[in-house]
Amino acid sequence: MTSSTPSASAGTPVDLFVIGGGSAGVRAARQAAQRGARVALAEPGRLGGTCVNVGCIPKKLYSHAAGYALAFDEARGYGWRFAADPVLDWEALKTARAAEIARLNGVYLRLLTEAGVELVPARAQLAGGGVVEAGGRRFAAKHVLVATGGGPFVPELPGREHVVSSDAMFDLPRFPRRLVVVGGGYIACEMVSVFHGLGAEVDLVQRGGRLLAGFDDELARFLARELERTGVRLHFGAEVARVEPSGDALQAVLADGRTLAADVVLYATGRRPSTAGLGLEAAGVRLDARGSIAVDDRYETSAPGVFAVGDVSSTQPLTPVALAEAMAVVDHLYGDGRRRVDYDTVPTAVFTHPGAAAVGLSEEKARGKFGAVRVYRSDFRSLRHTLTGSQERTLVKLVVDDASDRVVGLHLVGADAGEIAQGFAVAMRAGATKADFDATIGIHPTVAEEFVTLRELTRR
Ligand code: NDP
Repeated sequence: MTSSTPSASAGTPVDLFVIGGGSAGVRAARQAAQRGARVALAEPGRLGGTCVNVGCIPKKLYSHAAGYALAFDEARGYGWRFAADPVLDWEALKTARAAEIARLNGVYLRLLTEAGVELVPARAQLAGGGVVEAGGRRFAAKHVLVATGGGPFVPELPGREHVVSSDAMFDLPRFPRRLVVVGGGYIACEMVSVFHGLGAEVDLVQRGGRLLAGFDDELARFLARELERTGVRLHFGAEVARVEPSGDALQAVLADGRTLAADVVLYATGRRPSTAGLGLEAAGVRLDARGSIAVDDRYETSAPGVFAVGDVSSTQPLTPVALAEAMAVVDHLYGDGRRRVDYDTVPTAVFTHPGAAAVGLSEEKARGKFGAVRVYRSDFRSLRHTLTGSQERTLVKLVVDDASDRVVGLHLVGADAGEIAQGFAVAMRAGATKADFDATIGIHPTVAEEFVTLRELTRR
């Protein structure tokens, strides 16, 4: 219950008011309504949030598009001949993507309305005491769930007005022949790979010495080599001093004086929780040092009765994590309250070409946590590429806690990395040991079988 339970005269009474119609908000609203709660959800934009509209879904569609370009090229090694080189119709790709996203927006709307959730197509604000204002109305909510997600962060820099964030990348009016990407995280890596695959010349500028902070160091360095092999230019330890017009295009001027010509400069320099304009402070909802909404292990904020899930509060801003958190809140409010989110074995994938994926701990973190670990790794040219002529290499790596023999880290760079890691995530959550991996029969010939045939210890 909110600290002072609102009276019906405070507005339309609801059991749960959800702010934000992204993955987490829609899931929570729908499931709460299906359990008999009166639910309203406020969303001023398109349903589905970042993931559906400007994140996971369009990114993956464009990643598939880029994958075809590679496949056309590789097919020649298998005897395929084309009368002419395939060309990308950027307008056709954008139109097809937009149609699919619109279909998904409709699916989300139907899911909400069929569950009996009232959709308020407006921004919402906490007015304190369990009252929420949205669309010129007041709601008296027993509980409130803030699921407003996050948005791109672009640092201050001279020429900031010339750069774009990932939000703009899917609908660029003209396909960028030359793209400069600043940042080295998930979004930078994926966008580099997508646009390079689609035919752009790409430079990635990363202030640090490696990609994908938080991932296994060996995985990150292996992926960097693979991206460079495909022709992406990586600039480590480099910073953009300013971005300025140059003819009818742009140039990014680096701190060391070098210039990179670009049709588009993308800043993929992290995302920040969307907390502004929600009335959080007045309602007593505290933020943590990262600027995210601080929550306890039940996702309740410092204001009793007000909960927060997903990118606005989570330390792991991933769609499936947001969904799991949303379901845990619904279970807490309307179920038996036993559902918990296991943050230790969250599998994750970076949809580059080749892809990268991981479950559990990096080698570095495992050494810090367990002390004695065993590392098994192999890199090889996959069977597919024996005929394509591609020099692409695949990395498979297991990190094992020496004391318990449990596999605590699994890392992969290669085709279908995300698909492969998902299955192993189940085994690792169930506590699979290296002996379990060894006793598992492989599927031959696959890349995934390498994980169950890693016999030789690489290092301790
Ligand atoms: P990340 O936090 O992953 O990476 C941000 C990058 O920007 C880092 O390389 C960082 O460098 C760099 N950076 C930060 N600030 C600056 C600055 N002022 N100047 C220059 N460089 C800077 O953020 P993303 O935006 O890539 O992604 C946000 C989140 O979205 C991810 O953490 C992930 O959780 C989620 N996501 C997940 C995807 C998936 O599951 N496939 C896909 C896309 C996003 P440094 O390393 O030096 O700090």
